[in-house]
Amino acid sequence: MHDHDLLVVGSANADLVIGVERRPAAGETVLGSDLAVHPGGKGANQAVAAARLGARTALLARVGDDAHGRLLLESQRAAGVDTAGVLVGGAPTGVALITVDPSGDNSIVVSPGANARLSPDDVRAAADLLASARVVSVQLEIPLETVAAVAEAVRTAGGETGPRLVLNPSPPAALPAEVLAACDPLVLNEHEARFLLGEDPAGREEAPEAWAAALLARGPRSVVVTLGAGGALVADRDRTVLVPSLPVEAVDTTGAGDAFTGALGWRLGVGDDLETAVRFAVRVGAAAVTRAGAQESFPTAEEVAAR
Ligand code: ADP
Repeated sequence: MHDHDLLVVGSANADLVIGVERRPAAGETVLGSDLAVHPGGKGANQAVAAARLGARTALLARVGDDAHGRLLLESQRAAGVDTAGVLVGGAPTGVALITVDPSGDNSIVVSPGANARLSPDDVRAAADLLASARVVSVQLEIPLETVAAVAEAVRTAGGETGPRLVLNPSPPAALPAEVLAACDPLVLNEHEARFLLGEDPAGREEAPEAWAAALLARGPRSVVVTLGAGGALVADRDRTVLVPSLPVEAVDTTGAGDAFTGALGWRLGVGDDLETAVRFAVRVGAAAVTRAGAQESFPTAEEVAAR
């Protein structure tokens, strides 16, 4: 009945990267390096992270009928992701135009393109795909009403056999109460936690335990706050546990959160409890920061086991 451990519903972008000596000011033209094109977008990244670990993974996303869309489909298939749910057309593939200077500071312009056209109707039309998954993972690089339709579909599938929703509020945005209530867990970094807590006094505290408690009060069944080199905090109604990370030499933290969340979704899909799944996911996140790039940096299960 369950063909997929994890279904990721989310964005797929082509990251177009140019190295520059200095990022241009308004009206200025600068010369840069050769263009590098990388598959990216939080949805595509999470799906690749899970599939590379061995998860039976599917992606529900929208790309354009263009070269970037084909690149994204190809990178998903190469990692072993089931792409039957990837819709093609309606707008150009989403792109991120990235300039990065020698100190590593960057400027990014995102054109959501086809990601902005992944609609609630697309989600409803994919009811069978949603029902085929043990875990559904979603982020906020697609329209909020589409995210709400995913939460609704998970709720209606309901019960013991329905999928479990993992939601990463990135980029951060205010979430309707019924979406928050469906999250198990809400997975977010410190920046996203502070955004969601806004005027709440807990948002100004330094203790992640206070954020987790305040976020739980908003309705999710569980919360995971990722803390970079500090690991991750896991909290539900019964307890709060800090899971330390592994000491590694961080080379590039791009995509660490996506690697973490993809790994977490997979482990929950194969039956781990939340704390056990987070213990695995911090090892995947740690491995991902030891290599450059996003999808290129995601480890296999053998590489995680070898640490
Ligand atoms: P995001 O990439 O969304 O900002 P984090 O920086 O919190 O998220 O990273 C996600 C996870 O990746 C962390 O919980 C941790 O497991 C791992 N990680 C990130 N940075 C490091 C690091 N410097 N050393 C070890 N693990 C890291």
